[in-house]
Amino acid sequence: MKNKKLVMIPGPTPTIRSINDQMGRETVAFGDPEFVKDYKELIIDLKEMFKVDGECFVVAGTGTMAMEMAISNVTKRGDNVLIVSNGFFGDRFIDLCERKGLNVDVLSAPWGEVVSPETIENKLKEKNYAAMTVTHVDTSTGACAPIEEIGKIIKNYPDTIYIVDGVAATAGEREYVDDMGIDILFTASQKAFGVAPGLALLWAGQKALSRRKSLGTIPEFYIDFEKWIPIMNDPSKYFATPAVNMVWALKESVRVINEEGIEARYDRHIRVSKAIQSALESLGFKILAKEGNRGTTLSNVLYPEGINDAEFRKIMAEEGVMVAGGLAAYAGKLFRLGHMGNIDDHTVYSAIATIERTLIKLGYKYEKGIGLKTLLENM
Ligand SMILES: *Cc1c(COP(=O)(O)O)cnc(C)c1O
Repeated sequence: MKNKKLVMIPGPTPTIRSINDQMGRETVAFGDPEFVKDYKELIIDLKEMFKVDGECFVVAGTGTMAMEMAISNVTKRGDNVLIVSNGFFGDRFIDLCERKGLNVDVLSAPWGEVVSPETIENKLKEKNYAAMTVTHVDTSTGACAPIEEIGKIIKNYPDTIYIVDGVAATAGEREYVDDMGIDILFTASQKAFGVAPGLALLWAGQKALSRRKSLGTIPEFYIDFEKWIPIMNDPSKYFATPAVNMVWALKESVRVINEEGIEARYDRHIRVSKAIQSALESLGFKILAKEGNRGTTLSNVLYPEGINDAEFRKIMAEEGVMVAGGLAAYAGKLFRLGHMGNIDDHTVYSAIATIERTLIKLGYKYEKGIGLKTLLENM
């Protein structure tokens, strides 16, 4: 019998039955009163959940579109932007900003580490930055930036809009927009919300919103805050067709999160990630991100001597678990295991058991069962 396929890449993440059911519903008109009510409630719930006195946008698109939406609404050609990059997705902002005619400065950390708040503060003193971007958990490394500490620093720089890329973090890692001094936070539906790909989510606080106002007309159309604000406050209005079924699916995801409790959800991510990482280390793997700045949403797992990446991932897939390969310099050296979103304990045990089955098939010499034993002791 064929094994059930578990999607354990860092997004899309596994989708649960009740969320799939929403995606499979018969689509209604976007002006349907029940849909309008659902959309409106969703926006209110999302603002409350992430504590923003401002706006929340839920728009068809991906995380990359949300990156562009964040930058486009708070900067204009010629502005200085500081990009704090801890890997591949941090770097993605460089090209994005340069194409918009922004003057880009970059602070980079070696992969697996994060740029320190002190380094950021010293850079902010040098010149006036219109915006600064920080990737909360960079999916290429699994490193987690100290976004709350950085938020305390940014309070002393009233001209700088603090943008946090939460695509591999939001709804998995603790994030509170206003309390943490964040001006814009964004994510996408297919990561820790556990919905299929298709929606971009973005929260903007008052500082970001007043910056948007001061810019007048911006060159971008579809991703303009001003186009969407009237819709987000009254979804019976039309600007561009909402992804009806995806909005329902996201609403169900929010219900599932509230049922668990957002704080309990964050704690679960901590517990599960620590247990998984200990189990992997007991098997001879190493975690790329330094202890102290490891994300809880995914692990970037370095192979022990003698394991071939392509073979490992091929057998894993045959055994029923999809994991992702390494990016850039780490291609072939590590695999990426997502453990964010609506992942139950069964899934975690399956993933580690599958890794053990794969190691056995590869003829890797190790103490059989040690991964599962370590997992059992730490879950
Ligand atoms: C996945 C990801 C993105 C890009 O999102 P897409 O939905 O693929 O466009 C951006 N930033 C981070 C941190 C991500 O993990």
